Amino acid sequence: MKKILIIGGGASGMTAAIAAARAGASVTVLEHMDRVGKKILSTGNGKCNYMNRKQGVRFYRGGNPAFVQPVLRQFGFSETAAFFRELGIYPRERNGCFYPASGQASSVLDALRMELRRLKVQVLTGCEITAVKRNGNGFLAKTGKTAVRADCCIFACGGLAFPKSGSDGSAFPFIRQMGHTFVEVVPALVQLKAGQAFLKAAAGVRTDASVKLYVERQMVCEDRGEVQLTEFGISGIPVFQVSRYAAKAFLDKKHVQAALDFVPFLSGEELQRELTGRFGRRDGKTAEEALNGLFSKKLIPILLKQNGILPKEPAAAVSERTLKELCRYAKNVRVELSDTKGFAAAQVSAGGVDTGEIHAETMESALVPGLYFAGEVVDVDGMCGGYNLQWAWSSGYVAGMHAAMNHSGSK
Ligand SMILES: Cc1cc2nc3c(=O)[nH]c(=O)nc-3n(C[C@H](O)[C@H](O)[C@H](O)COP(=O)(O)OP(=O)(O)OC[C@H]3O[C@@H](n4cnc5c(N)ncnc54)[C@H](O)[C@@H]3O)c2cc1C
Repeated sequence: MKKILIIGGGASGMTAAIAAARAGASVTVLEHMDRVGKKILSTGNGKCNYMNRKQGVRFYRGGNPAFVQPVLRQFGFSETAAFFRELGIYPRERNGCFYPASGQASSVLDALRMELRRLKVQVLTGCEITAVKRNGNGFLAKTGKTAVRADCCIFACGGLAFPKSGSDGSAFPFIRQMGHTFVEVVPALVQLKAGQAFLKAAAGVRTDASVKLYVERQMVCEDRGEVQLTEFGISGIPVFQVSRYAAKAFLDKKHVQAALDFVPFLSGEELQRELTGRFGRRDGKTAEEALNGLFSKKLIPILLKQNGILPKEPAAAVSERTLKELCRYAKNVRVELSDTKGFAAAQVSAGGVDTGEIHAETMESALVPGLYFAGEVVDVDGMCGGYNLQWAWSSGYVAGMHAAMNHSGSK
């Protein structure tokens, strides 16, 4: 019977274990935390957005986003949906995002754990791995307590995001020792820090806005949705979506700026007309009253102050020229970004094992036969919306299946 060793019992490691065991292999998972799948419990605000109806390479980033294609062709949307349905997860869909009907991420983890138990996968938790290396045609892993020999080894040890759930990079040296190289790992899907004083005053504002990210004054990406202004900088899903590009630029010490459009639903001309109408009404309103209903209340004094308008000044006294400036400003508030909030706050990390060193059809190493990778440890990161778990399930299943069936090492 083929023996498969899996380093890491997270989303991708458990899926790899299930796939390998279903294909008839004897599987051991080594997990250094006291239990498997801790991160899953925190996903989707505890509700676990485990996949998305919208699929495609466009939702993935990394050195070669097309790398995901052969993996998703083998285990994509319909296979993942069927996999979880069979494990008892009844799907509830919201705007394409899939959640378990229970509304609890713990259901997803429990479903995976029950399947591991049914398949008699050996799960060793709380084990500190001291070595993972080639051993003849196979592999040998040592922990403080035991040694595990296997024909194939799958690294499913995650990236560097949210290290309190166990993904702390402690397995990276073993991967490097086997000759693999890493694309620099940076936080992604993370808040961005900015020093500007107006942000402190606006802390707590949540508003529909578009975020354009500029690196060295070139726009690199844009997203729209609910932006949050905070004590430290900017947050919210659109900020998360652009953050991995900011993180890469910080690494290269580049100048990084965000341009926030607080009125993305109106063109510049439409906003100008709207402001002219509101301020020209001569209905006795003050400047701040004239903006009521257009901007978040906390944002109004800030927008006015930045344009030299006193909140209590009569709206009708504000000149057309000043209104033009206010219009330009509201659609293009420049925020100087200094850093991300780091791995501790990040939902995923970008970077990881170079995809040029992995066969995308099987997730097997192109350098070491019998060595496989799955999940976030690989240089693939997905957008918000279930794509990171999708990658974990898909790459995990493909790696587990091929490790169990295709490797020609010792038996
Ligand atoms: C707060 C939060 C919310 C998220 N929400 C979503 C969401 O709703 N939808 C979505 O798609 N994605 C979400 N993600 C991202 C998603 O959880 C991850 O991309 C996914 O879990 C990655 O799976 P993985 O198996 O590659 O790594 P992980 O889940 O990180 O698992 C890696 C495992 O390996 C173990 N390990 C690491 N090193 C060692 C070692 N040396 N020895 C033994 N074991 C080791 C770790 O303890 C861990 O159990 C979220 C992430 C966070 C932090």
